[in-house]
Amino acid sequence: MKDIDVLRKDFPILERKINGKPLIYFDNGASTQTPRCVVDEIERIYYTGKANVHRGVHTLSQEATAAMEATREKVRAYIGADSTEEIIFTRGTTESINLVASSYGQLLADGDEIIITTLEHHSNIVPWQLLQQKKNITIKVVPLDANGALDLESYRNMFTDRTRLVSVAQVSNVLGTVNPIAEMATIAHRHGAIVCVDGAQAIAHMKVDVKALGADFYAFSSHKMYGPTGVGVLYGRKELLNAMPPYQGGGEMIGHVSFGSTTWADLPYKFEAGTPDYVGIAALSKALDYLQSIGVENIAAHEHRLLRYATTQMSEIPGLRIFGTAPEKSAVISFLIGNAHHYDTGVLLDQLGIAVRTGHHCAQPLMDYLGVEGTVRASFALYNTEEEVDAFIVALRRVASMLS
Ligand SMILES: *Cc1c(COP(=O)(O)O)cnc(C)c1O
Repeated sequence: MKDIDVLRKDFPILERKINGKPLIYFDNGASTQTPRCVVDEIERIYYTGKANVHRGVHTLSQEATAAMEATREKVRAYIGADSTEEIIFTRGTTESINLVASSYGQLLADGDEIIITTLEHHSNIVPWQLLQQKKNITIKVVPLDANGALDLESYRNMFTDRTRLVSVAQVSNVLGTVNPIAEMATIAHRHGAIVCVDGAQAIAHMKVDVKALGADFYAFSSHKMYGPTGVGVLYGRKELLNAMPPYQGGGEMIGHVSFGSTTWADLPYKFEAGTPDYVGIAALSKALDYLQSIGVENIAAHEHRLLRYATTQMSEIPGLRIFGTAPEKSAVISFLIGNAHHYDTGVLLDQLGIAVRTGHHCAQPLMDYLGVEGTVRASFALYNTEEEVDAFIVALRRVASMLS
């Protein structure tokens, strides 16, 4: 990987002091920071290139359309999809999964079954529960083993001839568990079910190839991959997307509108009603360039080094419990110190300049399963360093002695 001190200069926020201490940003699972090239692109477009896409003959509109479609092609290549028709821009992972549940969900029949897992984010639970209010479907939940990995034996045994869909996170935002998506997809496909993958925590941390994974749908958010907020992606296999009804109605998504009948636009526009965040989408292109200039494999190796380094030292702190010890794990560490409340730990760390997440992490069913109300979570990104982990460990020891 490139020199980390050089890379850190791409992120001006890392020069900030918080409560008089240098910022240590370990809340990357919630949002990664944004490199200068992405912010510069947003500024450039707002100052010199802002115009709505797809509607205009004028030069600015054509440029805006070209920028958006160039990003679509870049995303396609980045995740190994066959066609740009399979790349739909949304507002984020949440909207992408809601699109699938709401639209593909209409193709399900009463009595059909879907499978999710214990470690899902609320955005991969609640959309399916909303669907349950319209269709009499059953939701089955894959249990976890003691390390926080999915119990694949149970998963295998959950399929019946009514199982239509599996929706699963590639990486848990709480435990860091990396789920064996390809293996799970093979099993699902053998039973005639399709697979929707929540890739929010995977896309910036490992090589993602939707075809190698066997994903029929794959959802992710720009703001977790060094891109702007407000933009997400849904990859869907063309054959499925073609069979699905529109998600929202409005401009951009129509073929022809009359009061008698209306036809839909071709893919991917059928699923992109209204004006998209065309500035954010164009700037996402710069985030993809940035990721590729470093190499996601290099980023993964760096983050795994930090994960091992931090885990080893945290394990030596008396009373500190780590949640999630799956053999395949991404750089996300959930923990509690003794009986200290997660919130108090978070506040004390903040006073020392360290940003972590505390609470239920939008995964309350998982908290119930773990028997806790919440945890503290540190999650790493490409710009984090061993020195930051060292400072974090010193801070944790201080917090442990203050709160015990
Ligand atoms: C962040 C996250 C989401 C939701 O992403 P949004 O950008 O808030 O839509 C869904 N699933 C997982 C695993 C996440 O980490």
